Amino acid sequence: MADTATAIQNVLVVDDDPVLCLLAESYFESRGVQSIWMAQDGKQAIDVLFDRAREIDFMLIDLNMPELDGIQFLRYLKKCDYTGPFAILSGESGAVVKSAQSLARAHNLNLLGALSKPFDSNALTQLLDKSKIAPREAVAAKDEPAPVTPSDLEAALSAGHILPHYQPKLDVNTGNVTGAEALARWIHAERGVIPPDIFIPMAERYGLIGTLTDVMFQRAVVEAAHWHRAPWTIKCAINLSAHVLANLDFPDLAAERVNAAGLDRGNFIFEITESQILQHRASAAEVLTRLRLLGFEISIDDFGTGYSNIENLSEFPFTELKIDRSFVRDAINDPFARTCVETSVQLGKQLDLRVVAEGVETAEDWDFVAAAGVDEVQGYYIAKPMPADAFRQWCLKQMCQ
Ligand code: C2E
Ligand code: CA
Ligand code: CA
Repeated sequence: MADTATAIQNVLVVDDDPVLCLLAESYFESRGVQSIWMAQDGKQAIDVLFDRAREIDFMLIDLNMPELDGIQFLRYLKKCDYTGPFAILSGESGAVVKSAQSLARAHNLNLLGALSKPFDSNALTQLLDKSKIAPREAVAAKDEPAPVTPSDLEAALSAGHILPHYQPKLDVNTGNVTGAEALARWIHAERGVIPPDIFIPMAERYGLIGTLTDVMFQRAVVEAAHWHRAPWTIKCAINLSAHVLANLDFPDLAAERVNAAGLDRGNFIFEITESQILQHRASAAEVLTRLRLLGFEISIDDFGTGYSNIENLSEFPFTELKIDRSFVRDAINDPFARTCVETSVQLGKQLDLRVVAEGVETAEDWDFVAAAGVDEVQGYYIAKPMPADAFRQWCLKQMCQ
């Protein structure tokens, strides 16, 4: 019978330990694996995946690594809806590995299992055999359109084909619209609407994210000027990327833009994730503090998936905490996710932050997060992100109810 591992052709090993990498390399070579990529941390692994995500059949991931560690890397995999199989290989204690496994499950990732260091080739073989990974040919047969390129993206940005869709946020107690998150969409002539997970990482990698943020912000300010006439305040949330946190001019540029439209800066919320802040920690403190001093709101996004702790949270001038949708989605069935939601609410309240639950998909989700004490809700149960005109119509309908 053919060994299951021989069905795997391309492997990525993510580990900073050179000895482990050598052992893994010789193991996979002896199993007839064609290509073995090595990454010393999550950052390098993201680089490899960016070009080869569709080729990689299996990943072996360490947890404790410099730069971007295994937990942050799992978060990245979740962000880009990565479905490929992988195993955790760690020298950390059982409790740490167990919580990493729970996190991977909460993210709905394709985790085959966890192995302890030192490297044990028999244990790995057993794990691969047990999970019967399909040969690459079987998954590669899909008829995919040609990928979009960075120059397509640049052209789309200049042509105005990248624009925000808006997803409403509601006050959980009154049901009133409190705001909307601007989410980038690429309106492509042949492909229809391209989601941001395809082009945001590309924009970041090819130096286009500054322009993209600018395009989104500019559009959102024009749109928010319409909401200004509504009988109650509708705040507009804009996603920032790490790159913006390195731009010390951003707060003044943002203030100028909002002033020029005659709008109140307090009606704009900038959303940022903790791992993005950690990439430019020093300048992030300056940029976020100045944005806050200028009257903008700052939200910590995807809360619970990074290294969020009370120290980090109180170090930056956040006004809002958004609980990641993976926890909200799983809270009904998964005690770990439920605890994450409840603890996040408590932490947010202690720090006097407005707490938002995103990814509310059902009435049960709504009831649970309301009982847990969140202030606002966002998710498909309320509405999916929609074009500017549709959002305005939607708000009008809500207000007339
Ligand atoms: P995010 O900031 O966490 O945005 C929320 C994502 O959750 C959106 O995905 C939204 O459509 C989705 N979502 C909302 N409610 C639900 C729900 O009930 N169920 C499910 N399954 N999903 C829900 P989207 O629009 O695909 O955006 C993905 C990510 O792309 C965003 O995650 C954000 O990180 C990034 N992104 C989007 N627009 C921009 C942008 O203008 N700039 C930057 N830097 N990043 C952006
Ligand atoms: Ca966001
Ligand atoms: Ca989020």
